[in-house]
Amino acid sequence: MIRAAECNSPMVSDALTKMLILQDRDMKLQQVEDALQTIPLERKAAEAKIASLKADIEAARQRIKELETKGKGIETEMASVEVQIVKYKNQQLQVKKNEEYQALIHEIENAGKKISDLESDELEVLYELDEERKRFAESETKSKEEIVLEERAIVRLNEREEEVKDELESAREAKVAADAELDNPSRSKYTQVARGLKFPVVVELAGQSCKGCHMRVSNAILSEVKAAKEITTCDNCGRILYYAD
Ligand SMILES: [Zn+2]
Repeated sequence: MIRAAECNSPMVSDALTKMLILQDRDMKLQQVEDALQTIPLERKAAEAKIASLKADIEAARQRIKELETKGKGIETEMASVEVQIVKYKNQQLQVKKNEEYQALIHEIENAGKKISDLESDELEVLYELDEERKRFAESETKSKEEIVLEERAIVRLNEREEEVKDELESAREAKVAADAELDNPSRSKYTQVARGLKFPVVVELAGQSCKGCHMRVSNAILSEVKAAKEITTCDNCGRILYYAD
């Protein structure tokens, strides 16, 4: 990886190797810390998704119930109007005056109209109910499948969380150990470069382009990195460079 040509300072190539090891431990630790932050968020999102799917199922169930209640209400109303019609017809047999008789005919007609209105209301409700039940059957199956998937995702997240919790301590220790290997100037250089930059901060110079920012470095930087007499940084992004053929 690091070119150890005769002209290179062994101290610089040694420092670069140690920086690369420290960087590897830093990235590993960062990965673990990131996972510990994102896993609870992902779990929350999955839980919210499940809750919303369950709420959708419940809302659809509620709509069906409401339509059923509405249908029953219409039937009850129809039955009572029919009872009323029978009463009017009985009254017709008893009244003596023609105007009373006519008034009853009028009432019976009105009641008949009401029955026919109620019948068309009922048909509408039955149609809606039918559609709602069909929709429900389809969406319930789909939602339940999605719920199962989300629940499985939560199980995996919980397992992963346990794993990374176990990894955290050893990742911290590994970082401390790698850090202790660096001499003070190398450490402060590394720390200074790592501040405010995304990993990796020690990168290869491939040909003449920095593998951190993918920009071409100047000829002066290229020779410096090749010579490896001191720690050299990219003139564009500031990352520490090492040379590889
Ligand atoms: Zn760069």
